Amino acid sequence: MRPLTDTLILGSFVNASQRERQNLTLPADLGELAWDKIDYLGWHDRKTPNLGLVVAEVDGAPVGILLRQTDSKIRSRPQCTWCEDIYIPNDVTFYSVKRSGQAGRNGNTVGTLVCANFECSSNVRKLPPVAYLGFDVEAARLQRIASLQERVANFVRDIRDGV
Ligand SMILES: [Zn+2]
Repeated sequence: MRPLTDTLILGSFVNASQRERQNLTLPADLGELAWDKIDYLGWHDRKTPNLGLVVAEVDGAPVGILLRQTDSKIRSRPQCTWCEDIYIPNDVTFYSVKRSGQAGRNGNTVGTLVCANFECSSNVRKLPPVAYLGFDVEAARLQRIASLQERVANFVRDIRDGV
């Protein structure tokens, strides 16, 4: 993704109240981030660890959303809905995400399962196992990266549009 500045990030949140926006903490290591290796920026608020923050590029502009970790236990082995990694090395968390605008103020939320510490970008960059002789692992990897970008953008767009 294209590099973001503090100002761009802070101005990007579509489902945060004025108060939430003022209280959120930015990632500490923005300057050292390998932006070309991530498909979205995801982190946990240091002051409020159950608050997740995600900024993705949607239609050429950064759009940020707040995600709230819920306490609900997941019974079956969960799969992240964004990277869909089947060899997932990390925990997956259930997040509740408030829609933008009036819908969100009315309590309208969307639930989603996402890698607990937003590891999706590194998951899809691992070379997949060779599925059959002649299987193009690099093409499969590029496909997974493209799919991740598309799923995240679609999710964030839905939240932004309040649909
Ligand atoms: Zn994931």
